[in-house]
Amino acid sequence: SFVNQLGDERIAPAALVPSLLRLSAHSGVTLPLDLFEGRRNTAGLDPTSADMATSLQAAWITADLATPPETAVDDIGQIVDTLAAAQRGWNALAVEARADILDRAADALERDLPLWCALIVREGHRTWADAIPEVREAADFCRYYAQQAREWMATRTLRSITGERNTWRLRGRGVWACISPWNFPLAIFAGQVVAALVTGNTVAAKPAEQTPGVAARFIALLHDCGVPRDVLIGVYGAGDTGAALVAHPQIAGVAFTGSTAVAKVIARTLAGKDGPIVPLIAETGGINAMIVDATALLEQVVDAVVQSTFRSAGQRCSALRLLCVQEDMADGLLEMLRGAIGLLRVGAPSDLASDLGPVIDAEALAKLQQQIAQLEQQARLIARAELPADLANGIAPVAFEIDAIEHAGEEIFGPVLQVVRWRGEIEPVVERINALGYGLTLGVQTRIDQRASQIADSAHAGNVYINRNMIGAVVGVQPFGGEGLSGTGPKAGGPLYLTRFCSESTLSINT
Ligand code: GLU
Repeated sequence: SFVNQLGDERIAPAALVPSLLRLSAHSGVTLPLDLFEGRRNTAGLDPTSADMATSLQAAWITADLATPPETAVDDIGQIVDTLAAAQRGWNALAVEARADILDRAADALERDLPLWCALIVREGHRTWADAIPEVREAADFCRYYAQQAREWMATRTLRSITGERNTWRLRGRGVWACISPWNFPLAIFAGQVVAALVTGNTVAAKPAEQTPGVAARFIALLHDCGVPRDVLIGVYGAGDTGAALVAHPQIAGVAFTGSTAVAKVIARTLAGKDGPIVPLIAETGGINAMIVDATALLEQVVDAVVQSTFRSAGQRCSALRLLCVQEDMADGLLEMLRGAIGLLRVGAPSDLASDLGPVIDAEALAKLQQQIAQLEQQARLIARAELPADLANGIAPVAFEIDAIEHAGEEIFGPVLQVVRWRGEIEPVVERINALGYGLTLGVQTRIDQRASQIADSAHAGNVYINRNMIGAVVGVQPFGGEGLSGTGPKAGGPLYLTRFCSESTLSINT
């Protein structure tokens, strides 16, 4: 049981349910209703509810995941030429026609939600509790960008000063390269691709080499919904394939989600090419911090920390990496955290009782093991969960205490938390977090409103979450993306995202 700061005994939530990570108020599973005209509802989102469990089980048995063949690097020129030839016609369609396709794709995703979940669990090794909101997020991207395109891409008449007629409109730029990661094999892939398509671009879509099957299936779905085959083409392979794609002279823009290092390589490649200046949208990683002061509610903090750090085995750009706790209450919080980490269940992703599954592959595991070994040398162990012996690429959730924010090191993309104590004023704490150079998510836990807004004002972070967890940004509700080493924006699922995929043109007619 937990003992809170007032000394009452509470039953740990995990004792009541099979999955600790499933029930949080903001786990990404409870979703808003108004934005999508009531389409979203929370019914059926619990993977252990009887109906959902039955349909997931059926989908799990029948889902068949076909892996597309790798694209030869030599074929990329031909692919981009095909896309370039198709772009003019696609761009000339009324925006309605393209937006309607996205709405149909959203309908199809929702209709076959259990199937998509099964594909994500199989190929991406995500848990059911992660897969369900991921499918819903993909559908939300389709609906949201359809709606945004209808608004943004209508021709606007501007003021006339000297009698001429002035109009302004957005149009597609050309061929986009969309390069996406394995951690959201459907949602991030889909978000990039449909944004580029709906704005009138043709798309070379390059998913991570670990998750080509989900991506190929989504491409097929878009083709079925009405995207012509020469408007959207999948490009499959590892980093050299992506590099060849980005280097192609006809690429008019790149949307990339992945590491900071690769984003910089892409930016350099684009800058070094002859020809036009090519825009890059980059969403990269972060050493995301949560600042906790002595007024915070400990149960709420522990729940938010566990969700933010360990959900999806920490394989989210948004995940909490560095917990900064005010000295006065650090011992109490660490005690509770120890208890909560001890309750986490690592297991097969397809097992409904698993809080978290394994990491994506052996390479990721090896890197994490090396980073953890270093922490074992340099930091103090707070707690480590148990790990079943037979889980391939499984890794035990673990927390360490370090002595200074500056010791946080590089981003650790897994279920690893570093904790640091702070004392004195809050402002220097925020400055030291800012000085790490990233700027994706920031959590704040305090009951002093003025302090919360002070931190939000001085933090360099794209998404600030106060008194809740810091993952699971909802499309159109929490536009997502960072600054500094964490990326360039515009934010995915936000009102400015589509504009970056477009060229603007102003027409002035002397009447
Ligand atoms: N949008 C996701 C979230 O808010 C993270 C996406 C990512 O990991 O790139 O948790």
